Amino acid sequence: MGRKKKCKYCRKLFTPDRRVWNRQTTCCSAACQRQRKKSSNQAFKEKNPDYWKGRYSDTKKWREENPDYQRKWRLEKKEEEKKKSLSEIQAEKARYYIDSIEEKVKALREIQAELFSQSFDIKRPKALLSSQSP
Ligand SMILES: [Zn+2]
Repeated sequence: MGRKKKCKYCRKLFTPDRRVWNRQTTCCSAACQRQRKKSSNQAFKEKNPDYWKGRYSDTKKWREENPDYQRKWRLEKKEEEKKKSLSEIQAEKARYYIDSIEEKVKALREIQAELFSQSFDIKRPKALLSSQSP
């Protein structure tokens, strides 16, 4: 077929997403995706060694100057939670569940599109053959 590529990490064949055909080097398995993420983070760190420098020390200094900030923030959040009505709590829960369902639907649509493109590739030659035969 020639449409499959070998995964950089597990060396198994996989079908790259059509939208990122040339760039995709890793299969979709969770283990390989983790490895890919890890090595791209490492590459970023090597390329930008100063990226994280100085950031935390600023935060640390600020936190030392405002030692009660986080404790107060937590207390405020707790108080806000207490003030919420049942319908507000339910609305938040509903929003959370709808968001997570939407994410799953999106993932399923991507799988469906991938399956559709695969079955289209397989079925087309057959369809051509049957239209030629009497
Ligand atoms: Zn892999």
